[in-house]
Amino acid sequence: MRIWLDGALRDADDAKVSVLDPGPALGYGVFETLKAEHGTPFALTRHLERLTRSARGVGLPDPDLDEVRRACAAVLEANPMPLGRLRITYTGGLSPLGSDRGGTGPTLVAAVGAATRRPDTTAVITVPWVRNERSPLTGLKSTSYAENVVALARANRAGASEALFANTVGQLCEGAVSNVFVVLDGELHTPPVASGCLAGITRALALEWTGAHETDLPFDVLERSEEVFLTSTLRDVQAVHRVDGRTLAAAPGPVTANAMRVFEERAASDIDP
Ligand code: PLP
Repeated sequence: MRIWLDGALRDADDAKVSVLDPGPALGYGVFETLKAEHGTPFALTRHLERLTRSARGVGLPDPDLDEVRRACAAVLEANPMPLGRLRITYTGGLSPLGSDRGGTGPTLVAAVGAATRRPDTTAVITVPWVRNERSPLTGLKSTSYAENVVALARANRAGASEALFANTVGQLCEGAVSNVFVVLDGELHTPPVASGCLAGITRALALEWTGAHETDLPFDVLERSEEVFLTSTLRDVQAVHRVDGRTLAAAPGPVTANAMRVFEERAASDIDP
């Protein structure tokens, strides 16, 4: 495996970051995960815009997007695969706690691994923990990810692939690694970014392409929604067939099936929408 670290392509075994780097030491950094089919990343421009937004949000200097593009192209060329999961990590530099890396600045890593197509439907659980919509990390793709890992492990133990969170005022927010859409009276809704969810790129595209509404929704809407689906880079649009103990009849339902079809068609016709 060849990865990009700080300006050069290297063997993964030779790519080293200091244990004192605020990235690994504090989870202080931002990242992006992109899907790449046959070496071509999907929605690269949007991912780079969000990387810059996230970096600014946590107080890191703007990433050099020319280098990020070069890094992505280099790792995709060095690791050919039909469906790849391209990860850009931008961490470290001067941290708020002062454990800097001796002025060497932030670390940029690009790596790619094989990805698999997700099933069309999945089970989810709800978790009793909340997203804090007033956190400084709200809406940013931060590497402080332990909460999501813990929630996902709980979902996996329950035979589900995703865990859904409310926010601090009891509204539906998002999944550990995806955004959520629900159908109510035949209408498609998703929580606004102000709910504390990540500004998901698949969410934004699904909103544009389906005309869904951004709506504040109580968390218990999951007990009565006609349909539920998830969006994320690696899931695209994925129907939910079970929420906790409740089975949703005939998933994907008609609104979800339409969103899946529209997403697939539009994404196939434009690799950088
Ligand atoms: N919400 C969280 C917390 C995520 O980690 C992710 C992606 O990993 C998403 C939502 C979906 O975002 P995107 O569609 O940009 O992959």
